[in-house]
Amino acid sequence: MSNLKGKVVAITGASSGIGEVTARLLAGRGADVVLGARRVDRLEKIVADIQAKAGSAAYRALDVTNREDVETFVKFAEQQFGKVDVVVNNAGLMPLSPLEALKVDEWDRMVDVNIKGVLYGIAAGLPIMKRQGYGQFVNISSIAGHQVFPTAAVYCGTKFAVQAISEGLRMENTNIRVTVIAPGATESELAETITDESAREWVKGLRNTAIPADAIARAIAFAIEQPDDIDVNEIIVRPTVSQH
Ligand code: NDP
Repeated sequence: MSNLKGKVVAITGASSGIGEVTARLLAGRGADVVLGARRVDRLEKIVADIQAKAGSAAYRALDVTNREDVETFVKFAEQQFGKVDVVVNNAGLMPLSPLEALKVDEWDRMVDVNIKGVLYGIAAGLPIMKRQGYGQFVNISSIAGHQVFPTAAVYCGTKFAVQAISEGLRMENTNIRVTVIAPGATESELAETITDESAREWVKGLRNTAIPADAIARAIAFAIEQPDDIDVNEIIVRPTVSQH
């Protein structure tokens, strides 16, 4: 029997891309999944699909830039299924541009969603996991958490932050597992937030070799299904042809 059976997994940014596919895959392997994002119409449909296949799922509207919202979301998962085994901090956006374009509003949004959203997820999940005596955070970083690229200074900064925060969280907690997943180019809607033309063209090139989101979902499932005393700290998943 899969070690995922009966695990309660709350996933932020579950309305598309990696979050959606992860919810579907984990539910298919017996987890109770709780989906959060702003596009509730999408969540409703995904949850209906999962339930139609005899999976267990619930959803709640979520804006990760709002601390109370994130806290309510994780508590909702606990209320629905009686515990919280895993919080997947996945919500993110990537409006790339050169710094000199001064798209400061986009910098703010990246910091708010990619860094503060993850911190709020930790703030919401940690007290519950401490009380339970177990739990796991799966934080979605990126290749951009390891390397810096032109037009991606701020995005890389947010993903380097996810790496650092995750490592600190891991070191401070000996009964809570912390996993970083660092994908390379993956099929999703992520590039749609790019408003800068040169960055959009660059990313379009990368997208030609993007791997399916299912590849990332399988890595997440692998980390979760390990025995409790084994913490998979990080998995980097790239397209084989990637030179980055
Ligand atoms: P998508 O754009 O398909 O998914 C992003 C998700 O984040 C959506 O469900 C969106 O939902 C959600 N989201 C955005 N803003 C908020 C918010 N304020 N509150 C709640 N949810 C929000 O892209 P991906 O699946 O690719 O992205 C998932 C993660 O993977 C991100 O952290 C991204 O940085 C990371 N990543 C992706 C890579 C790739 O190549 N695709 C590579 C490396 C990392 P909604 O709009 O409904 O709120």
